[in-house]
Amino acid sequence: MGTQIHLSDTGAPLRWPRECAQCGAKDERLVGVPVGIAREKTHLKDLALQRLVFESATLTYPVCERHAGGVRLASWLTRKSPLPALLRGVAWVFGPLALLTGAMAVGLGVLRLLGRVPAPAGVSPDLPLFFVAWSVLAAALLIGVLWARRHVPLRLVRFKDDGLTLRFSSAAYARRFVRANPDVARSAESDCLDRTRNVSRC
Ligand SMILES: [Zn+2]
Repeated sequence: MGTQIHLSDTGAPLRWPRECAQCGAKDERLVGVPVGIAREKTHLKDLALQRLVFESATLTYPVCERHAGGVRLASWLTRKSPLPALLRGVAWVFGPLALLTGAMAVGLGVLRLLGRVPAPAGVSPDLPLFFVAWSVLAAALLIGVLWARRHVPLRLVRFKDDGLTLRFSSAAYARRFVRANPDVARSAESDCLDRTRNVSRC
């Protein structure tokens, strides 16, 4: 989903379309929102010191003030680097289970209120507090990750020595970005077509 653009690493400053990347507003004040990616660059000497080394790259692109806060949070939640990746892993593994458990607890509570299911005698109906807190956190995290994937206009999806791969949610904005940076940006999709003589492998 989205349009992928390959960006050569030239060190030259990028030119962004003068509009909000989220809503396209041109006549509002724009602020810079960072989008980043990290890759592991651990060498043998680092392993000897029992440490992992990451190298990161960050771009800053314009978003209107109204959307800046949400886009900043969504960018961080979808960022390819260790901590957000760990949180997404927790969300995908435990989030569905937490939502299912919550739905079952609510359903059971409603049935008990209606008198359809009697509470078992001598057994406390209360769930352990830590379990409830963990379930709420996991469910909130899953909802946050799903929200972020829908509300992030730009993600960095690949970080190699020859440059970065950007994924724009708006194909029109991606085209304007390529037009503004013809020397360093090119469509990853057209690259696939060229290499395979009009048969796309991507
Ligand atoms: Zn906006």
